[in-house]
Amino acid sequence: MSSTDQTTDGWAQDFSYDYYRKLLRVLQETFDVRTLSEYPECRSNGEPVAIVRHDVDVCMERAVELARLEHQVGVRSVYMVNPDTPLYDIDDERERLFEIRDLGHEIGLHCDLTSMMNDARNDELDVDRGLSRREETHVRDARHRLESIGLDSIASLSFHRPVPRVLDGPPTIAGMVNAYSSALMSAYISDSAGRWREGPPIQTIPAPAPDVLQVLTHPVWWAETHNPPLEQFLSVTNGLDILDEDVYAELVSICPEYGERIDDIVA
Ligand SMILES: [Zn+2]
Repeated sequence: MSSTDQTTDGWAQDFSYDYYRKLLRVLQETFDVRTLSEYPECRSNGEPVAIVRHDVDVCMERAVELARLEHQVGVRSVYMVNPDTPLYDIDDERERLFEIRDLGHEIGLHCDLTSMMNDARNDELDVDRGLSRREETHVRDARHRLESIGLDSIASLSFHRPVPRVLDGPPTIAGMVNAYSSALMSAYISDSAGRWREGPPIQTIPAPAPDVLQVLTHPVWWAETHNPPLEQFLSVTNGLDILDEDVYAELVSICPEYGERIDDIVA
């Protein structure tokens, strides 16, 4: 084990597709694996449900690779796509998005409210939803942009860099199943920032099985062979224009170590 693989705040020792396949198989053994929009109806037979969610923050190419892998092992998952990111353009990615959908997966909305958060306290909050009216309008507009490339009606939602105010939210927002609802956050593991905070995911799947488990991964951290998170991030972001301020700021917000490494190289 190299020192870069092990951190004090999480497990990052295996982001290979082989490990991911094993994780899926373990989930399939214990859970009915369903997509977000199928919740809560999919609970009707009483079986424990797992929802495998991917927030596509950086790279649609990696998302397609995971979508194909999941299709091979018979898992349907949900890919949350951000129409406002500076890192990819949903019009340019239309073919990849159609391929993910045609493999049987769901496309959901990954919505970024961070630019509006500072204004929220001056705006009228809808206490039931935790969002301001302006934020709700932003969510609806983002959904329409994503649908406008030719995707069917978008039926699920997650937030990019969610602030505490939106966590443990209502079951639906603007008619979409909310990944950050209290029910879907009660048992939740995630590889955010390239770390499984609770430890190796296969060992940390709760037992006995909860009614619903949500597993969040970000395709950017995964590859055919394992790389430590920062190395993996550098390889995926290689072709991006980091002189563009928005691109650079977004990359650093997703992977702060990336900023330190690039600043070292430039200095
Ligand atoms: Zn995100």
